[in-house]
Amino acid sequence: MNEGAPQTVAQAIARAAGLLALTSDTARLDAEVLMAHALGCGRSDLLLRRMGDAAPACFADMVQRRAAHTPVAHITGEQDFYGLPFRVTPDTLIPRGDSETLIDLAQQVFAAGAGRVLDLGTGTGCLLLTMLHLWPDARGVGIERSAPARGVAQGNAGALDLAARADIRDGDWTQDGWADGLGQFDLILSNPPYVETGADLARSVRDHEPASALFAGADGLDDYRVLIPQLPGLLAPGGVAIVEIGHQQGEAVAAIGAESGFAPSVHADLAGRARAVMLRPR
Ligand code: GLN
Repeated sequence: MNEGAPQTVAQAIARAAGLLALTSDTARLDAEVLMAHALGCGRSDLLLRRMGDAAPACFADMVQRRAAHTPVAHITGEQDFYGLPFRVTPDTLIPRGDSETLIDLAQQVFAAGAGRVLDLGTGTGCLLLTMLHLWPDARGVGIERSAPARGVAQGNAGALDLAARADIRDGDWTQDGWADGLGQFDLILSNPPYVETGADLARSVRDHEPASALFAGADGLDDYRVLIPQLPGLLAPGGVAIVEIGHQQGEAVAAIGAESGFAPSVHADLAGRARAVMLRPR
């Protein structure tokens, strides 16, 4: 960044977007989000009110970090998911717009809401806490094996005023007995690790997000193979499980579901790519 004359907010955003285009597919958006964070305002305020003001000094540092592949959410410490703000750290997966598909599907299945929600691998808590926010009468459990991630989820539950209805618990579905005493749920959501181990990911993902939240063996299906056979025992009568998948995993995950006694269906995200498998007991 130019250290010379002070730039206006608009100039600084334009310059930053040019620089970030070398390493980011969302350069202009990144620059705007970082500027809004630097100014402590929302992105819409930025466009309407602040374009003539001088850019704050801290913006240049943020842009440098982003240019060096740090995710925007790690610089701002926050990511919106389904319109709610979630705190994120390098201990948690950054919530993805793709995962909002699971929230839409859950609302379609339970138009009047569901009572008990389980989120397996809750990370920031985004799936569980969004459901509890949308369904004021629901209660839920978020299972997470990473202690620092549990701390983030708990913090998000508090910040969203949902702590009284959200039980964030330790658990690892690869270990015997992890689900003892959990009870049964009307809705189970999970965005498990599903990336092929060794896959060529963007540096911002590979170097900054937790490998344990991403990778699941040579074909990316290891967690589904362990998790899905355990789901029937966790579903209440009339209950439904919805798991996120990679866009080429629909058939394979549906087959695992069918072997476990489910009638599976594959669902697409807004981009029209397979993104979720719904599992209803047969
Ligand atoms: N449930 C969290 C999310 O959807 C975390 C998922 C994960 O860590 N694999 O973002």
